[in-house]
Amino acid sequence: MGPAFLLNENSSLRIVKSKISSVKSEINQFKKALSIAQDKTLDLKQKMINFLSKEEIKIYDAHVEILKDPELEGKTIDFIKSNSCNADYAVHEVTAEYTEILNEIGDPYISARADDIVMLSRMLILILQKKVENKINLNTPSIIVADSITTNQLSSIDTNLVLGIITSHGGPTDHVAILSKALGIPSLVGLAKSISKIKAGSLLIIDCAKAQLILNPSLFYIKKYDLLMLKEKHESSIQLKKSQNNVTTKSGTSIEINANIGSLNDAKKAKSFGADGIGLFRTELCFLDSEKFPDENMHYSIYESILKEFPKVKHTIRLLDFGSDKPLSYLNNIKEENPALGSRALRLGFKHYDNLLKPQIRALLRLSNLFNIHILCPMIASEEDWIQIKETIILEFNQLNNEGVRIDYLPRIGIMVEIPNVAFRPEFYIKNADFFSFGTNDLAQFLMAADRTNESVSNYLSQSKESILILIKNFTELAHKEGKEVGVCGELASDDKCLSYFLDININSLSMPPSLIPKIKNEIRNTI
Ligand code: PEP
Ligand code: MG
Repeated sequence: MGPAFLLNENSSLRIVKSKISSVKSEINQFKKALSIAQDKTLDLKQKMINFLSKEEIKIYDAHVEILKDPELEGKTIDFIKSNSCNADYAVHEVTAEYTEILNEIGDPYISARADDIVMLSRMLILILQKKVENKINLNTPSIIVADSITTNQLSSIDTNLVLGIITSHGGPTDHVAILSKALGIPSLVGLAKSISKIKAGSLLIIDCAKAQLILNPSLFYIKKYDLLMLKEKHESSIQLKKSQNNVTTKSGTSIEINANIGSLNDAKKAKSFGADGIGLFRTELCFLDSEKFPDENMHYSIYESILKEFPKVKHTIRLLDFGSDKPLSYLNNIKEENPALGSRALRLGFKHYDNLLKPQIRALLRLSNLFNIHILCPMIASEEDWIQIKETIILEFNQLNNEGVRIDYLPRIGIMVEIPNVAFRPEFYIKNADFFSFGTNDLAQFLMAADRTNESVSNYLSQSKESILILIKNFTELAHKEGKEVGVCGELASDDKCLSYFLDININSLSMPPSLIPKIKNEIRNTI
């Protein structure tokens, strides 16, 4: 609830075709603008990195990809050459052609990508014309009302002053919707003409649960929503306080609620949101930006600094899962048709053993003297995979002890159950591994033959839920007979519709993004 701040239409750009003295200098300026735009986008990414998940932050990578697109660059340069014209005009014409084609497809997802191109085109033109974008200068907490707002504008405002956002354009899959959700800003998008009635400073209430906008609410509504907001605030602060304790259902079933982390900031959040431990440390996320293979000491010092933030708990650390959607820039990967089914995770780790797996395993073994480390092995597909990684870890353990680096105990070594072959025939793995964690994200994509990074087939993934729950149940029953623990660390772990099922089958742990922990713990506490 708050006053409306009307975002003026972004000032329209003046783009005229003019004769130029040197084609070469125009092309150079265009190339320079491309590189400035890339730097600006990476700066925005850096600014937002602590607020967004690894999926959400990819918005900025996608923008950089567009700016680096050789076709876009080539076409613009050709346009400048063949028309002997100014670069800003060429950018405008070439990008307009692109967006027209994308918009003609009539798919809301693709139209949202066309909006990205419009925004980047505007950014390039402003750089070439040496102008700056209208900034949103809020000085009191307000609800922003706009026809549309760009992700760049949203990334550069003081989000503490934004109570909400409403737009006439856009849809729930566009990047502004994704970003505002990640930032915790309530937003209603695609309201079309209804926003034209809103005057600057008018009081607004946006109720996202009901997808409702209340303009100039009566005293009745103001009081009603004041109370609702107070109640929600109160409830979440109680949930947060209670979250610091272990949780059981009313009838006494206990379950560990752990955090998925990938950075120091995540570890801090895990502690403050009341995680019982770290259920999945995606180690590769620490090195996505490095320019060379991390060596043993680099692995050691990064993990040590992160684990120290949240020291006295169980740390389940996953071996590097590079490849597929997390490529290594400095590895000249052979391009694969289906990278999610190709050389990733341990497959890649063994191909570059001395540079990838070995230093990591040695660092983790050394750290196991200081922390309660459990090693989790991703993408185990076969008995051979398991035997190979287990023997390798034991070999490095013996090697370190032979070198005089005493490692007291071999840490527990577990399997990430994310490939159907393991989930369907679990007996061997249950006998031989120490613990299990279901990676439901990959398991869903492999069960449904639907690439998890491809928006156009994403509707298939949620339809795997029933099959996955059955697999988890069967696996858990067998594992419990052998006294082994089973957890879930994919997205399904925080799906509240699955919670009572997980409690019924006595799953041992659920691991999820830290901010979801207080709510899930609260639901468990209220379950019979
Ligand atoms: C999974 O596959 O479910 C998982 C938790 O790992 P990631 O999302 O990192 O592949
Ligand atoms: Mg996975």
